[in-house]
Amino acid sequence: MAQGKLVILGAGESGQGAALLGKAKGYQVFVSDGKRMPEKARQLFEQHEIEFEQQGHNLSRLVDADIAVKSPGIPDSAPVIQELLAHGVEVISEIEWGFRFTDKPIIAITGSNGKTTTTSMIHKLLTDAGLSAGLGGNIGKSFAAQVMGQEPDYYVLEVSSFQLDGTTQFQPHIAVITNITPDHLDRYNYKFEAYIASKMSISHRQSQDDFLVYDQDDPVLAQSVAQSVAQSKIQASLMPYSTKTSVAQGSYIDRDTLVINTPEKLINMPILDLNVKGVHNQKNAMAAATVGALLNIRKETIRQSLEHFQSVEHRLEFVLKINNVTYINDSKATNVNSVYYALESMESPTVWIVGGEDKGNDYNELLPLVNEKVKAIICLGLSNEKIIQTFGSVVDMLVETHSMSDAVQVAYRLAGRGDTVLLSPACASFDLFENYEDRGRQFKNAVRQL
Ligand code: ADP
Repeated sequence: MAQGKLVILGAGESGQGAALLGKAKGYQVFVSDGKRMPEKARQLFEQHEIEFEQQGHNLSRLVDADIAVKSPGIPDSAPVIQELLAHGVEVISEIEWGFRFTDKPIIAITGSNGKTTTTSMIHKLLTDAGLSAGLGGNIGKSFAAQVMGQEPDYYVLEVSSFQLDGTTQFQPHIAVITNITPDHLDRYNYKFEAYIASKMSISHRQSQDDFLVYDQDDPVLAQSVAQSVAQSKIQASLMPYSTKTSVAQGSYIDRDTLVINTPEKLINMPILDLNVKGVHNQKNAMAAATVGALLNIRKETIRQSLEHFQSVEHRLEFVLKINNVTYINDSKATNVNSVYYALESMESPTVWIVGGEDKGNDYNELLPLVNEKVKAIICLGLSNEKIIQTFGSVVDMLVETHSMSDAVQVAYRLAGRGDTVLLSPACASFDLFENYEDRGRQFKNAVRQL
């Protein structure tokens, strides 16, 4: 029952799942990773009798494939992808691959910021309502691997633009777009429009029976939705959410009340009941509540689930209070927009730890907030010139550090009673840390040792 030749590029979580699914569906599977594979991946492939290679690509073998599933980490410009495309091999992403083998409804969340938080909120909401829901995409277990087994009734998937780029059929029943701000432009030829188009494509194959939930307050997003509707690229029912204006269908804030209005349901809940901090998290909660209402989840369950949602690790995560100084870990803030929301939600004078590997940041939009909220800046990166240049004349104290323990020690000295120490770097972490999780963990450890 050979189905054809399947090549998997990249042996990470998604590649492993995609390979197993391919094998289970009768494909002849070959996994190829340009780097050394994790031991776990090697064992898994051996156990399932899946052929693999590592630390290089055997191009002549790869181009013989019928279909290739590529890891989101590999750009289209990589020679191996160019070679496959030139030979007419279809190159898709893992969510596309998984989608081809399931008919369960999918709730897919994309956006520049807030994907993981919103995805986790929605997943919790479904489980709290007693529905069986798989969590996948960029978080949790590989979606493709879940499709293989005893399937849940729903999938809640966090999808990046890289995953969306490799889709031709993927059609979520409910799509959520949290926002669109410049990020990852290096992968889009530095064209913001190309990145926007990638995000919007989450809705392009939705039908009239599907829904698109999105932040109406984001000008780029609102305009892109309007444009796509005008061009008949979007058929789904629109469910906007806004903290600024009321909407006929979707969700909005009326004084202190969150109103959710969908064809089947009208729900009111006090915003104060939300457990999470900051306007951005209110927005994420609105997206989640709208999805809950669309799935006909009981009002009481939606309210309680959002009341008990704890922020995800490394996202405005409360660490400790020492001498009445609050320490917050927002290591996942790897771009300017997420720092904007972090600073906006600060309620006391803030000692801000910022810096790392700059992805082309423009810090100017942070100036008013920094002026208002930040009493001291601690730079934590290999090169800090841009930060010093932008903020040097705005704050009274600016200190350069090159290790997390130094940064936290300095913060401890500079912060006074009632202040907040916020790690919200606006940058990638790879200059001094393994990844943002490592950076966040080092921060928490250093704080705990104070
Ligand atoms: P993603 O998965 O898209 O990277 P996360 O939920 O991991 O998003 O959050 C990344 C960063 O963005 C964190 O610093 C978080 O506090 C911030 N953030 C979360 N939700 C939003 C939002 N709706 N708008 C802007 N920033 C957000």
